Amino acid sequence: MSRFLDKKLAGLTPYVPGEQPKGIEDLIKLNTNESPFPPSPKAVAAVTEEAVKDLRLYPDPECTGLTAAIAEALNVSADQVATGNGSDELLAFCFHGLCPDGAAFPDITYGFYPVFCEMFGAKSTVIPLKEDFTVDPKDYAGLKETVFLANPNAPTGIFLPLDGVRELLSQDPDRLVVVDEAYVDFGAESAAALLGEYENLLVVRTFSKSRQLAGARLAFAVGSSELIADVKTMKFSFNPYSANRIALIAGEQTMRDTEYFDRCRAEIIENREYTADSLRRLGFHVPESKTNFVFAGNPELGGRRYYEALRDRGILVRYFDKDRIRDYVRITIGTKKQMETLVRATEEIIGMGGSIR
Ligand SMILES: *Cc1c(COP(=O)(O)O)cnc(C)c1O
Repeated sequence: MSRFLDKKLAGLTPYVPGEQPKGIEDLIKLNTNESPFPPSPKAVAAVTEEAVKDLRLYPDPECTGLTAAIAEALNVSADQVATGNGSDELLAFCFHGLCPDGAAFPDITYGFYPVFCEMFGAKSTVIPLKEDFTVDPKDYAGLKETVFLANPNAPTGIFLPLDGVRELLSQDPDRLVVVDEAYVDFGAESAAALLGEYENLLVVRTFSKSRQLAGARLAFAVGSSELIADVKTMKFSFNPYSANRIALIAGEQTMRDTEYFDRCRAEIIENREYTADSLRRLGFHVPESKTNFVFAGNPELGGRRYYEALRDRGILVRYFDKDRIRDYVRITIGTKKQMETLVRATEEIIGMGGSIR
């Protein structure tokens, strides 16, 4: 730490993203919830040499084409949509400007939330998940803090049905609820369906997980036009050009290519069910997942040992050295072949019992 850093950031511990190893060819990478599939062929085709040459020009700060495609897909008006450089950017705006009374979120959820609180000086209130890792909306009754709900949650994969989201929204119409729907496309229901009924709702979605564009850094928020205007005010007070020209082209085509999107997510869901069933058969506890990953726990093996044993076999998953979840690893769902390899490796690890390796 230099002597120039503002004291208010002295305690800042950055978010640790999953490893992005260099020699990735030989590794089965199941640690950061990316898609195993390439972007939509229409998106790839749209990024022409001409489009690359246009990079000398600034991108459209209003993201007009992409915004229109999102608004059409969600059946909302364009002024109810704000786009951003990944949901991390949109969430940052929420923690920065939409948490006048602080932020409340579960103890086990997206690890970026506490980091954002630290970065932007928002007071954090951490609410433990229930024993079975589900959210009990009643735990949030009476809280004034802006509620952040990753739904489905990460790293558990568990979805709080919309009745639960409704309960959170109804508890206090003057309290904002931000629903982070990074994984909603893998079999869950979007709270965007409730936008007509609740003004205290902001839904954040991303192109990183279900739309094969993690590297493009693209996401969107939907909410009332007033809330979206606030988000845009922050965007235009920070970086009006946060979505680059190539990302905007790829994003618009991706949003319109519903056939490819549906095909990819159906395959992920199928592979997820195969993986969850296989791991349960091997004695793992796997909560029902509505995401592109499974959270697999085995108290005898332990999360760290399972993670290390898989790593020794060229399979990278995510282990969180954190209270309550040390028995677990989070496994991104890849291709069927990758998941078969994971299951075989797990059989081998379990078979070796106490002394792995
Ligand atoms: C991956 C993830 C994000 C971040 O996604 P980006 O759009 O790539 O920034 C946000 N929230 C949750 C819960 C995630 O898992």
